[in-house]
Amino acid sequence: MYTDYTQGFEMLSQSQKTRKLMDDEYRDAETGLVFCSSCHTPRQSNCLGRYILPVPCRCQEEKDAREEAALREWNKRRRLDQLVEAGVTHKAYRDYTFDRDDGRNPEITEICRRYAEHFKEMKQLENGILFYGNAGKGKTFFACCIANALLDRGIPVLVTSLSYLVQNRMEAMRQEAYKINLDDFDCIVLDDIGIEKFSPTAANIVDEISLLKKPVIVTTNLNPMQLKDSQNENFRQYSRLVGLCGTKLLVDNGKSRLDIGNHKGRQAEKILRKR
Ligand SMILES: [Zn+2]
Repeated sequence: MYTDYTQGFEMLSQSQKTRKLMDDEYRDAETGLVFCSSCHTPRQSNCLGRYILPVPCRCQEEKDAREEAALREWNKRRRLDQLVEAGVTHKAYRDYTFDRDDGRNPEITEICRRYAEHFKEMKQLENGILFYGNAGKGKTFFACCIANALLDRGIPVLVTSLSYLVQNRMEAMRQEAYKINLDDFDCIVLDDIGIEKFSPTAANIVDEISLLKKPVIVTTNLNPMQLKDSQNENFRQYSRLVGLCGTKLLVDNGKSRLDIGNHKGRQAEKILRKR
């Protein structure tokens, strides 16, 4: 085995000693080694004063590093594409990012940014956010800002609506679609709950989501007080989702409010509010 190695070195060394110069090389007078004409660093090294072995010159090393960085970037890009493909059910959700925030609700923006930044802690607390308030004031925008910030960091997020999930279940049952597996995601965003009447399938999905013990972010035009109406079967179902959100944010024209709901909401508040 040892002899094989030395023979290998010997042969490699011999071929290096006798190899022809390429157009961008010269032989250094002092060391006798082949040098790169561009960066003037050696492309050979003298090993143990006995073997001449090939090494990359500085510009070759830099080129390798650039190629590695490009490959890493490409892999990251591909992972993001896969996450978006798997988790974002309406492509428009991808357009809502913190970069496009018009600054109308600075307090909400700050809390949302901190939520995304401190997602690891929010996940440990299993704390989600309920965005509520009148239509068209930016609830979906903020929920998606958080989701996109997490996706961009490679965290799997499902951004969808309850009605889309119900439809997906139906289609999957008829084998017309791939069933979305809620367990594949670290965070679930349900946009605009409260618009549809509750079906048994919707109730099953809410059951599953409640058992996941993962942060759930919900947007609704309904008021949390309205949802407390226990006489209404629909509201009773929705209030189970609301119960998963320790942080409740009112989003309105320049008006915002952070309500602290339950215990995890109080824990989260320490993290989400800048002191
Ligand atoms: Zn070079």
